[in-house]
Amino acid sequence: QPQQPGKEYVMCPLPQAINPDYKPSEKLSGKVALVTGGDSGIGRSVCYHFALEGATVAFTYVQGIEDRDKDETLKMLLKAKSSDAGDPIAIATDVSSEEDCKKVVDQVASKFGRIDILVNNAGVEHYTNLVEEITEAWLVRLFRTNIFGYFFMTKHSLKHMKEGSCIINTASVTAYVGSPHQLLDYLSTKGSIVSFTRGLALRLVDQGIRVNGVAPGPVWTPLQPASLPAYEVEYLGSDVPMRRAGQPYELAPSYVFLASNQCSSYMTGQVLHPNGGTIVNG
Ligand code: NAD
Repeated sequence: QPQQPGKEYVMCPLPQAINPDYKPSEKLSGKVALVTGGDSGIGRSVCYHFALEGATVAFTYVQGIEDRDKDETLKMLLKAKSSDAGDPIAIATDVSSEEDCKKVVDQVASKFGRIDILVNNAGVEHYTNLVEEITEAWLVRLFRTNIFGYFFMTKHSLKHMKEGSCIINTASVTAYVGSPHQLLDYLSTKGSIVSFTRGLALRLVDQGIRVNGVAPGPVWTPLQPASLPAYEVEYLGSDVPMRRAGQPYELAPSYVFLASNQCSSYMTGQVLHPNGGTIVNG
């Protein structure tokens, strides 16, 4: 981020995966969950809450990305996990590669016997891309990660999912209301994920597999640039009715709700909107 003279720069608040007040109640005991992008941000908090709720958790990570740390997630999960759950595992995976997706799914299925919950969450964005400046190379990388990755992980996981399993896709509020930050490329991928979620849900009704989505508002994660101008930090929440961006732990309970057959057995093809109050249509 270039420094602009006369503008004050501040660090983003650190992402918080854990809410000390959260009270787990075994909503996912006995379940095997696979979460993509669990080394950071929203995915890390989802893994942590799933472990607290009794699930055995496998997650994917990408090697060598700044501010993402799979060992930190593993430490959290080992502390959170219940005694009858399997030990958490982390697997290096590039979700934009079908071969990688097949490998990670097969590895998880052979270790734990099945996949009950798939969370497609890994994603990338480029904060300041103007449509006039978008390159083909970037679009290919973005679409392969944010769309193809969801398809590949789903395609291979379905072989190991039975009736009562579910899929949760991370979309974004930007798919519904656009973005003041020019994220046209990114929000197009997230709109696609909303359609993917609805279509897949209908396709899998007869197999008893539920498919839902979560469309977060702005959340403090390393996806946000490490330093933003002060006016941008304020701006990030300024179009949100609650006047702030969220923390990862404020998102994770939506995933627990959608993953739990106790909570959401009559929901499929829906998208939850933990977004600080932004009204979305559709
Ligand atoms: P993050 O950067 O902390 O997490 C993104 C994760 O994706 C990381 O774990 C990273 O390792 C993984 N990843 C990136 N490229 C990958 C690849 N090619 N293969 C495999 N994994 C890859 O950011 P986050 O905010 O926690 O993002 C999680 C999801 O939430 C993303 O889909 C993002 O688009 C979505 N989202 C974020 C916000 C927000 O404001 N932070 C808002 C709406 C939606």
